Amino acid sequence: MKSFWRILAFARPYRFNVVLNILFNLLGIVFSLVSITLVIPVLGLIFGTTEAVTESPAYTGNLIAYVKDSLYYEIGLRLKEVGQAEALFFVCIVVIVAFFLKNLFTYLALYAITPLRNGITKDLRLALHNKILELPLSFFTEQRKGDLISRMTTDLKEIEWSILMTIEMFFRDPIMILASLLILVWMSPALTAFVFLLLPLVALLVTAIGKSLKRSSTRAQQQMGDLMSQTEESVTGLKVIKAFNAEPLKKGLFKRTVEAYFRTMNSVMRKSDMASPLSETLGVAVMSVIIWYGGRLVLQENDFTAEAFIAYILFFYQILAPAKALSKASYHIQRGNASSERVWEILDAQNPIEDPQQPKTFTTFSKSLEFRKVSFSYASEEGVPKKVLHDIDLEIPKGKMVALVGQSGSGKTTLTNLVPRFYEVEEGALLIDGLNVKDIPLKTLRAQLGIVTQESLLFNESVHYNIALGKPEASREEVIAAAKIANAHDFVTGLENGYETNIGDGGGKLSGGQRQRLSIARAVLKNPPILLLDEATSALDTESERLVQDALYKLMENRTSLVVAHRLSTVQHADLIVVMDEGRIAEMGTHTALLERKGIYKKLVELQSFVSE
Ligand code: ADP
Ligand code: MG
Repeated sequence: MKSFWRILAFARPYRFNVVLNILFNLLGIVFSLVSITLVIPVLGLIFGTTEAVTESPAYTGNLIAYVKDSLYYEIGLRLKEVGQAEALFFVCIVVIVAFFLKNLFTYLALYAITPLRNGITKDLRLALHNKILELPLSFFTEQRKGDLISRMTTDLKEIEWSILMTIEMFFRDPIMILASLLILVWMSPALTAFVFLLLPLVALLVTAIGKSLKRSSTRAQQQMGDLMSQTEESVTGLKVIKAFNAEPLKKGLFKRTVEAYFRTMNSVMRKSDMASPLSETLGVAVMSVIIWYGGRLVLQENDFTAEAFIAYILFFYQILAPAKALSKASYHIQRGNASSERVWEILDAQNPIEDPQQPKTFTTFSKSLEFRKVSFSYASEEGVPKKVLHDIDLEIPKGKMVALVGQSGSGKTTLTNLVPRFYEVEEGALLIDGLNVKDIPLKTLRAQLGIVTQESLLFNESVHYNIALGKPEASREEVIAAAKIANAHDFVTGLENGYETNIGDGGGKLSGGQRQRLSIARAVLKNPPILLLDEATSALDTESERLVQDALYKLMENRTSLVVAHRLSTVQHADLIVVMDEGRIAEMGTHTALLERKGIYKKLVELQSFVSE
């Protein structure tokens, strides 16, 4: 139930709608009750089944009897004046008007509550998306993409359908039930108390089924997450699947998940469908008990008349419909709770990378970027996390180019990822101008950095949008200037719509080299003092590599850069070359100094010239 109340907390901005809704519902109830209480005595008088009250009644202490008699007296008077046929016509008009008003107010009640029903999903959706943009990268290596998407879509839909469609009932039915209940207690406390002894039994049964329903529903939503993940993988990995004739494998896997989902959903629906018949059976059972016990009261004692007993049953029936609706709603809520718990898991996820409480002021980068005894390991679920970086000591002075080389897996990417605080330094410190990066606001820190990695991350938007990502207010001239520096202007003008061309999903309509030049243009436009380049050319063929490398050189001019290079020839003239080996700095120096050392670097260089010959 906790997640249900948390969802209701999202209703706070819409409390005015709730007030209106309750008001309109009350009016609706009043009109339906009033029309019936008015029509019945009139009909009774017209057809002569009720005896008219001929004298103006006196108040004898019984308020209800007094009101009733006065009403009958007044109606009787009017009837005499207008005649029976006309009275009948009048009754029909009253019925039409009363029911019109009742339905009008019922509709107005729904009209008023609609912004709440849709608003809660809207607000949850926004909160989820904001949260996803805030969470650290480490969260997403552990979470599957499809499952996240499923939480943002199908789980929200489930909440919308299950909880929010029934939310209105919670403002309406309890009023109805309470009112009828009061009447019941007033009519016969003994009988009502007896009925209430049965309620815990009924409640027990309803909750047991509800709990089991929630279990199935949680399983169903998890399986939906799996389905989404697999769909996402099938779509993004289509090339590989086709190339390896892996369609049967994928089909089989998907079919198994779909069938498991099918079975779970069958169980979910069968359990939720139980709400209606079960509550009706229980209701009738309770009703029979009332007839049995109440009937004996009528037969044995005289203070409970037969008419009163029938009225009692009618009022009890008034409770049944909303009670049935409420028990059905409680089942829906159980289903919805399974989904909302999955949503809370994301909204409650801790973000270990936070902005400092008391940020230090940092204006422009002026001295150096320094790693001081930095160690790091990735979090792992099973066993002890393995250290990926050990005691890294490295200073990158302003204006210098530092290259990181070393075998694949030696920790180069991990090291560069620490600078923008994509991951948090574990031991030691990362300093920028002598300030710990944890002490300056993330936004300020990241504003100093330009990042180009191996896979150029482009969005399914125009060329202009992609280049101006870090500076959305940039003019077309600025974008073009950046594209020229990045050797991208020529190919962009050759595109169908120039800078307005949509480049497809992930830049799929462009070649690898073109994509990379767009990401370089993006970094050029942002104009950051520090550059992080991680194997920016490694995925390219020789021809486009030359163009991209040329663009990179232009980008690095007058900047401080940390460059991970897969091709050693591109960093020969770096101010400092750092050779990484299994998470440690093995050697450090200029190209010539390192060659003379005849260590790992020399071996790497020889290996590469051997390969390229
Ligand atoms: P390089 O860029 O030098 O090839 P990386 O920094 O990518 O090396 O990886 C260094 C080590 O960290 C490797 O052993 C790799 O398996 C591990 N590693 C990289 N990324 C992750 C991750 N997200 N979670 C766990 N281990 C990782
Ligand atoms: Mg790498």
